Amino acid sequence: LVYPVDPKRQHQYRNNEQQQTPSIRVMTWNILAQALGEGKDGFVQCPLDALNWAERKYLILEEILTYRPDILCLQEVDHYYDTFQPILASLGYHSTFLPKPWSPCLEVAINNGPDGCALFYRRARFSLLHTSHLRLSAMMLPTNQVAIVQMLRCRETGQRLCVAVTHLKARSGWERLRGAQGADLLQSLKAITSRAAGSDPVSRGPGGGSGTEGVPLIVCGDFNAEPSEDVYRRFISSPLGLDSAYKLLSADGQTEPAYTTWKIRPSGESCSTLDYIWYSHGAFTVDTLLDIPTEEQIGPDRLPSYHYPSDHLSLLCDVSFREPRDQPH
Ligand code: NDP
Ligand code: CA
Repeated sequence: LVYPVDPKRQHQYRNNEQQQTPSIRVMTWNILAQALGEGKDGFVQCPLDALNWAERKYLILEEILTYRPDILCLQEVDHYYDTFQPILASLGYHSTFLPKPWSPCLEVAINNGPDGCALFYRRARFSLLHTSHLRLSAMMLPTNQVAIVQMLRCRETGQRLCVAVTHLKARSGWERLRGAQGADLLQSLKAITSRAAGSDPVSRGPGGGSGTEGVPLIVCGDFNAEPSEDVYRRFISSPLGLDSAYKLLSADGQTEPAYTTWKIRPSGESCSTLDYIWYSHGAFTVDTLLDIPTEEQIGPDRLPSYHYPSDHLSLLCDVSFREPRDQPH
């Protein structure tokens, strides 16, 4: 197999070497649930062989371990207990898993349990302050989508940050539900980060929990929504001060990538931007982003393939806490 990740994918912004504290590397990835890939998705241009778990899992692990993120947010995980939890634990990661209440994986004859979101962090860099497992609501009603929110403390600096992973409702026709799920998640994040703010002397200071700003946030996931959708607008305009890291890959710094997933189903080809890394722009700067593979690298049969184990691409960035003098105006 050809190594799937081109080292040239690394997109450098600024030299981080002078900084006193190392940046925080964040990865998010919808890794494609094994049961869905083999049993439900209908990727007509992808040979079934390329979806064989015994080999595909090494491509997923290889990509994760190439970059060794400090924080890893995965969606569509249906091999947590037998694969990702034990392997990543042996490499120094703490992790937590939250299955969907009614995972569609369970409708596939050969399944490995429900799929869900998983959140990993490197124990060497962070200690855990609090975990919230959320079932997202829409118009007060519980839905089939979940989120994990964790409050972490940087071991080196004592600063706190709040990290979240989610996977919103898929498919067209469900835009309003996604909007409502996003609103519910934002409300929970506001409650969690403002409750924690002000209670912690170590994190006080710009962006670090002054009591009004809340704890800095990183929110990752497969939002199943293009940037034109309501849920995207809700995130970018929320009072939490979030911005989307991958906009910085574009020439004007304002445009999301052309795609984060690209697949061919019997209904046709679908090339869309659905995955995001949101960050508190008052508290963090984005130092580095991993480039999106080109159309040529992805190839004519699109994703997944023998080279790319999921129909979604991984997103990865390095963020740093802003220095006090570095605050935006
Ligand atoms: P979603 O609509 O959010 O989609 C589930 C998965 O299907 C996602 O991982 C999504 O991937 C993938 N997907 C998206 N588009 C397609 C497509 N065109 N073809 C195949 N797969 C696709 O699922 P829900 O969470 O709403 O769950 C729906 C499923 O769960 C149904 O199959 C339903 O029968 C079952 N269910 C059962 C219940 C019960 O009472 N037993 C209750 C609720 C649901 P991606 O995000 O990458 O696009
Ligand atoms: Ca999927």
